[in-house]
Amino acid sequence: MVSKSVGNYQKEDVTELFGSEVGAAIIVDSEADEYQAIIKRGIFDRFIKERGVYKELIEALWFHLNTSETKITENYQVFIPTFRKFNGKYSKRLKLLFEGDSNIHLVQMTVYPISDERYMFILDELDNSEYMQEFMTDRKVDTIQNTYLFSMYIDLVQNTTSSISITEISDDTINSIISYTDWRMMIVNMIGEDDKEEFLLRTDPDYLKKNFAPGKTSSFNCLMQNLEGKYIWVKLIFSRAQTTNDDDYRFVFMVQNIHENSVELFSELKKYEEMASKDSLTSVFNHGRMEIEISNAIDNIRKKDQIISCMMFDIDHFKDVNDTHGHVAGDDTLKCFSSIIYNYAKDNNSVVGRWGGEEFVLVCYDQDVQKAFELAETIRKKIENITIPIVGKITCSIGVTQMRKIDSVESAFCRMDKAMYKAKSEGRNCVRVITEECAG
Ligand code: GH3
Ligand code: MG
Ligand code: MG
Repeated sequence: MVSKSVGNYQKEDVTELFGSEVGAAIIVDSEADEYQAIIKRGIFDRFIKERGVYKELIEALWFHLNTSETKITENYQVFIPTFRKFNGKYSKRLKLLFEGDSNIHLVQMTVYPISDERYMFILDELDNSEYMQEFMTDRKVDTIQNTYLFSMYIDLVQNTTSSISITEISDDTINSIISYTDWRMMIVNMIGEDDKEEFLLRTDPDYLKKNFAPGKTSSFNCLMQNLEGKYIWVKLIFSRAQTTNDDDYRFVFMVQNIHENSVELFSELKKYEEMASKDSLTSVFNHGRMEIEISNAIDNIRKKDQIISCMMFDIDHFKDVNDTHGHVAGDDTLKCFSSIIYNYAKDNNSVVGRWGGEEFVLVCYDQDVQKAFELAETIRKKIENITIPIVGKITCSIGVTQMRKIDSVESAFCRMDKAMYKAKSEGRNCVRVITEECAG
C-alpha cells in the first residue's frame, strides 16, 4: 500500500490495512461450535483452519495447547462452556508454543461480540523482543501459581461455586455457573479410582459443615487427572472462611500439585524399605526379611495351593577361610558366594537372603522338592568350580525341603536346617533333602 499522509486515509484504507496487517480475523459462532477464518497468516496458519470447530480453536488458543496430539482430557471439558461467553469486548495476551519451535509466540487476542453467541476474534503476533522481559516476569509468576492447579470459592448454604481459577488452563478467573453439588460429581471423575470414595466423603456438604469450625483448614492427598488426563499426586485443601456467624458456610477449595515431591518421597520410602530389608555386607535380603518371605510363602501355599520349596546353604569350613586369609578375605568370600546364589535365584523365580554368618536361605517358588534339589545341585557344583581371589576353592553344604500348608516358619526352617546338617555330617559339599516331619 502506498504511504499517504495521515490526513488522506479513508475508511476503505483501514479495511485494506486490516487485511494486510492483522494476523488472523475469525468469525465465531459459539452456540453452533464453529468458526470461519477470514484472515490467517504467519503462525496462525499453522493451527487455524479455513473453517473449524470453535472448541478446538479455544483449546489451541486459550488452553495453550498447540501441538496436534495434545487434547484436553474429557473431564476438563466441563469448564469449556464457562469460557465461551463474552459479555463485552475482551482482550487478552496469550503465549503460544509449537512443537519443534523453541520460540514463544506472544499473541494479542481481542474479542468483539457481534450478536448472540457470535464473535469476531482478532489475533496478532507481538514482537517477541519487545515483550520478552514482560514474559520472563510472567513466567516466574506462572511457576508459583502452577503449584496450585485449581482454586475456587464455595458457599454451601447457597450451593454455589464462584471465582474458579484453573491456573493450568488460564490466568483468568471463571465466574462459575455450576452448583457445588454438580461440581463435586463432575470432579469426582478426575479423581483416581482408589481415592474416589474418600473424595466424596471429604467433599460431602454435611461432612464439611460438621467437621469445619470457622477458619479451619484441612487437606488430603490423592491422585487426580491433570489437563492432559495424566494422573498426578495432588493435595486437596479445604478451608472454611473465618466468620462469627455459625450459619455461614463459605469455603475456599484448592488443589495443589505435589506430584514431583511425592514421587521423590515415594522413591525415598522405597530406599528406606530396601535398606531395612537388606543385609549390608552382601546386599541380599536380611534375616528378618527372609522370615517374612517364608511366612508369606506358607500363606500362599494355604491360599493358592502354590508349590514352594526352600533350602539352606552353609559354607564348609568357613572358619578356616578367616583364620588363613583374614576377615576381609572372608567378607569378600561371603559377597562372592551370595552373588552366585543371587544370580541363580533371579533366573529361577526364587528369593535369597542371608540367614546369618555364612548361612543363606533360598525360597524357591513353583518348585517341588525334586526341582529344588536339582537347582541346589547346580549351585553346589558352580560353587565347587569357581576360584575366589586370594581364598581359592570353597564348597558348601545344602539342605532342601518343600514347604507345606501345615508349616510354621519354625517347622519349615527346622527341616531345611536338619537337612543341611545331614549334608555336613555326610561329608559336606553335598545336597540333602528332608521331607518328613521335623522332631525339633
Ligand atoms: P562347617 O563346615 O561346619 O560349617 O564349618 P565352619 O567353619 O563354616 O563353621 P563355624 O560355624 O564353626 O564357623 C563359621 C564362621 O563364620 C565363624 C565366623 O568367624 C565366620 N563368620 C560369621 N560371620 C562372618 C562375617 O560376617 N564375616 C566373616 N569374615 N566371617 C564371618
Ligand atoms: Mg554355619
Ligand atoms: Mg559353615
